Amino acid sequence: MEINPIKHWLPNIDNPLLIAGPCSLESEEQAVETARMLVKDKRVFAYRGGVWKPRTRPGSFEGVGSIGLEWLKTVRQETGLPVGTEVANAQHTEEALNAGLDILWIGARSTASPFVVQEIADVLKGTDAVVMVKNPVNPDVQLWIGALERLNRAGIKNLVAIHRGYTPFGESQYRNQPNWKTVIELRRLMPNLPVICDPSHIGGKREYLYEISQKAFDLGLDGLMVESHRDPSCALSDKNQQLTPADLAKLLDKLVIRQQGSPNSEFVNQLEYLRNRIDAIDTDLLETLAARMEIVRKIGQYKKENNVMALQINRWTELIGKRVALGEKLNIDKTFTKILFQLIHEDSVRMQTEILDEE
Ligand code: PEP
Ligand code: MN
Repeated sequence: MEINPIKHWLPNIDNPLLIAGPCSLESEEQAVETARMLVKDKRVFAYRGGVWKPRTRPGSFEGVGSIGLEWLKTVRQETGLPVGTEVANAQHTEEALNAGLDILWIGARSTASPFVVQEIADVLKGTDAVVMVKNPVNPDVQLWIGALERLNRAGIKNLVAIHRGYTPFGESQYRNQPNWKTVIELRRLMPNLPVICDPSHIGGKREYLYEISQKAFDLGLDGLMVESHRDPSCALSDKNQQLTPADLAKLLDKLVIRQQGSPNSEFVNQLEYLRNRIDAIDTDLLETLAARMEIVRKIGQYKKENNVMALQINRWTELIGKRVALGEKLNIDKTFTKILFQLIHEDSVRMQTEILDEE
């Protein structure tokens, strides 16, 4: 997939990309005043403002609609910031293009629907729009990539992915559960694609924004989309997660931006030395695993000869308990050891059932 770097459509960007603004535009005055406050901070590169709001339940504030596009144009005129909004169907997309918005984004609920994404892509065909694609509400990296591909096939090369977390199952501290694994997988599959984080919709509460944003930078993400409102206590949507522009500046002051590498030759040498050690340990690990599998096969043969079942639940219960305890003694995270041995055991049982069922 051919994808442009952020610099292509935002030439004066210093990494990272920070796009900030209210969850929803509420009035022209609120939109413009918030923008004026935000633009004072040179770290803010673009302005966001929701005009059509996808609300989970009907009856809450669903956005001001098309008039908000005019307010976004005023914001750009007054501040010089590129402006963007969420589009969720062909009609929104046409209107946003006609208004000349600089950035469009596809919300999490829309990314989950290939029909919606396709209808948006069809309208965008032949334009040089900048489109940001939030992850779908469920942690399906293929669905996320699918949406990016639909846009890319329509000729859209100015693409950015946004991690905004996934609908949690059961109890959750955050409003939406981050899943950095899917972000890392997206990075691996689409190395040229810029990826930013939306800590506001992940956290759901102001107090969580710092830890989520720092984690995003620790993983090397390219920027943040943060909701900021001149007075969050009066916000018509997402009031608990929006920051005043002043609090956004404080958050940015606290965040440490990591570098891809370091020119420090001592660091480079030491890193290489340690990586070589890791390579050697990984080789040992795999050779040890292969030896373990060989024994598992041998046991499988004995079980077959003696007509004994593959899964021995008592042995498994005892083994996993012991391994987790040993792991803990060795300072290895309990959940990690558990998942690792579940994987190993699952494959052992698979191998042995195959042996039992061999003709
Ligand atoms: C938003 O950015 O205001 C929004 C509705 O986000 P999401 O699609 O991530 O829920
Ligand atoms: Mn919001």
